[in-house]
Amino acid sequence: MNQTVPISKKISTKKLTIFAGVVCITVILLVYYYRIKLGLLLSNPAAFWKLFLNASELSDFSFWAIMVSVATCVAALLIDFFTLGWKNSSLRKIFVRPTTSSKIDSFCFFLSVSRLHQALGLCVSLGVAYFLSSLLMKFIKFNLLGSIQIPWVQPILFFVLLDIKHYLEHRFMHNRKFWELHSFHHSATEMTVFTNARGHLLEASVYAFFTAIFFAVMGSPLHQIFLVYFFREVYAYLLHSDVKSKLGWVGRWILISPPAHKLHHSINPEDYGRNFGTFFIWWDKLLGTYKEPREGEFKIGLTDDYQNQMNYFKGQWTVFKRWIHSL
Ligand SMILES: [Zn+2]
Ligand SMILES: [Zn+2]
Repeated sequence: MNQTVPISKKISTKKLTIFAGVVCITVILLVYYYRIKLGLLLSNPAAFWKLFLNASELSDFSFWAIMVSVATCVAALLIDFFTLGWKNSSLRKIFVRPTTSSKIDSFCFFLSVSRLHQALGLCVSLGVAYFLSSLLMKFIKFNLLGSIQIPWVQPILFFVLLDIKHYLEHRFMHNRKFWELHSFHHSATEMTVFTNARGHLLEASVYAFFTAIFFAVMGSPLHQIFLVYFFREVYAYLLHSDVKSKLGWVGRWILISPPAHKLHHSINPEDYGRNFGTFFIWWDKLLGTYKEPREGEFKIGLTDDYQNQMNYFKGQWTVFKRWIHSL
């Protein structure tokens, strides 16, 4: 919930060593604990590799998966265009008068849609979070949703619970220990539909872990999961458009509106730690983190705007160094 961790140009070697040590010990303990099951799994490398790719979302790398990703964004761009008009549209901001911020957003979108973001994330995290996530999904299967016998209740409950997971993981990323990683998303200085794709490579690893816990406990109604993700993804892109509508009573009682999410990106300290929701408004209202978006324009981004002063890769590296320093 803060933007206050100071800049450190030097990487903290001591903290980096402790961090690497904790990660290694955790992996060794888990491997030792699951050594027998792991042995069986490794005797079928193809199955293990598939599981590993599932955790990193790389398993859906195909022409059609990419087309679906593009379609979700195009749907959001069109809604943005017809709502805001050409002059204020994301399309104009991105393609006609791009700022440094929107250029980085566009590059992030390209990486995300081509799955390079996930592939690079897998490499820079050394696969640790994905390895742990794949183990979790393999060995823990409570499948609580599977115990519900009424078929139509399953997907609805899945959607609502998934949204709680998104709220919690987003709030978790605003924790002092993880804020630096999430700050890459908040460094955008203008809202465009593509801002949704802006994120640090390691942040995806944290989300993979949350997702693995969610699926391990809840299970998933496989037939509906595609529709749920498509719907959520279009709305996630729309949340980052500069649409001014607060959506009337829907935006008061059901959905987090784009202006409410814009307030989450506000540079004003009074707005920090508000509106974590990414679909339903309920969790912010219930847990006291909701703030009504105000009228008129306000600045978004970080008080320390260093990430737009450098290229994408240097920005990623600098965020990583600052994150280690903040641990
Ligand atoms: Zn945030
Ligand atoms: Zn956002």
